[in-house]
Amino acid sequence: MAAVSDNTELSATLFDRASAVTPGGVNSPVRAFRAVGGVPRFMASGDGCHITDVDGNTYVDLVCSWGPMLLGHAHPEVTAAVQAAVSRGTSYGTPTRAEVELGEEIVARTPVEKVRLVSSGTEATMSALRLARGATGRAKIVKFAGCYHGHVDALLAQAGSGVITLGIPGTPGVTEATTADTIVLPYNDKAAVTEAFAQYGDQIAAVITEASPGNMGVVPPVDNFNAFLARTCKDNGALFISDEVMTGFRITKSGWYGVDGVEPDLMTFGKVMGGGFPAAAFGGRADLMAHLAPEGSVYQAGTLSGNPIATTAGLTTLRLATDEVYARLDETSATLQRLVATALDKEGVPYVIQNAGNLFSVFFVESTEGQQQIRDFAGAGAQVLPRFAAFFHAMLDAGVYLPPSAFEAWFVSAAIDDDALATVETALAMAARAAA
Ligand code: PLP
Repeated sequence: MAAVSDNTELSATLFDRASAVTPGGVNSPVRAFRAVGGVPRFMASGDGCHITDVDGNTYVDLVCSWGPMLLGHAHPEVTAAVQAAVSRGTSYGTPTRAEVELGEEIVARTPVEKVRLVSSGTEATMSALRLARGATGRAKIVKFAGCYHGHVDALLAQAGSGVITLGIPGTPGVTEATTADTIVLPYNDKAAVTEAFAQYGDQIAAVITEASPGNMGVVPPVDNFNAFLARTCKDNGALFISDEVMTGFRITKSGWYGVDGVEPDLMTFGKVMGGGFPAAAFGGRADLMAHLAPEGSVYQAGTLSGNPIATTAGLTTLRLATDEVYARLDETSATLQRLVATALDKEGVPYVIQNAGNLFSVFFVESTEGQQQIRDFAGAGAQVLPRFAAFFHAMLDAGVYLPPSAFEAWFVSAAIDDDALATVETALAMAARAAA
């Protein structure tokens, strides 16, 4: 049962201490409350669909560690498997059984034929790009405005997530030379893609896209955009990279691939496949993956890649993520979307809700008159941000933890129960009034 007091004293004290030793007091910008104001809550524990902060306030968690906690926090079977793995030792720098089994699970669930494990989504996309360039002998890559692929230098151009939340235009520290081969196009814009290939076709190594973007809010592909990208790449000798770090193993047993069935040349994964530990992967066609060292000459490596604890957590999570779990996630997400719509309608707050399977987000638009589906970064950017801030804080005060940004997806876990939904419904009534 969520219970929140207005006591945030210990979070405030920890935030002061954190700010003294860490830039902005956080180890990843999206955790800060910059966009909504106030002191970030420092969490002390999680149990099922709840997280509890250091002051003892408990929240229904709709962030789920930004995606990984598909089954909820401290799932007993995941915890037991991890504890057993830890007691056998934590890292050997050799191959292990768990990483083989995790690789097999990924290959069984997705179209990739071979997979390489890494420790973060950033590493996965960075490595996939290097492989694409190495395999094609070409330099240029196409990405889409509003898609976030981690903090890879070449991909930090008009990126979503924290970059858009903080209103950072480019990123100081990323040189012009590093992004000179990055072509940034508007999302869902087939004509722009056609034009880019007309101009640079034989120089483009790859097109990388979020399988269904969630880092500018949820903005799904329309008019078979992914199929169009795959075909255009094939026709031009380029590779199609589908970034499923956020959507993989969350939206369906495979990810967004389970929705549109478009087969990419390379894919990237992260979040859910680590079960709350640092594990990620990239994979694809066997002939492409054969370019990687030690089989081929494209170098890629990692001291903790395939770490036995992370792979155990990921493997146990994926084995527990059955069809029933995905059905439950879909149902919970649909209920939440309905509750949000009802509350906002009641107060006359204009909004657009978009979803990609169980991932969804709420855009606080100026007016719904003539409002179309949000298809790209520009559309996502046209939100009434103060409305979101008021809404966010009212939800927080009423015991619901949302992403502290209007440009992020809301994440559900299979642990959300009727009590939690009732807490959210009560919170929404207050938050909708605050946003009006
Ligand atoms: N790709 C996508 C689609 C993501 O959403 C993220 C993170 O949010 C990443 C890549 C980077 O993953 P990580 O934060 O594990 O480096």
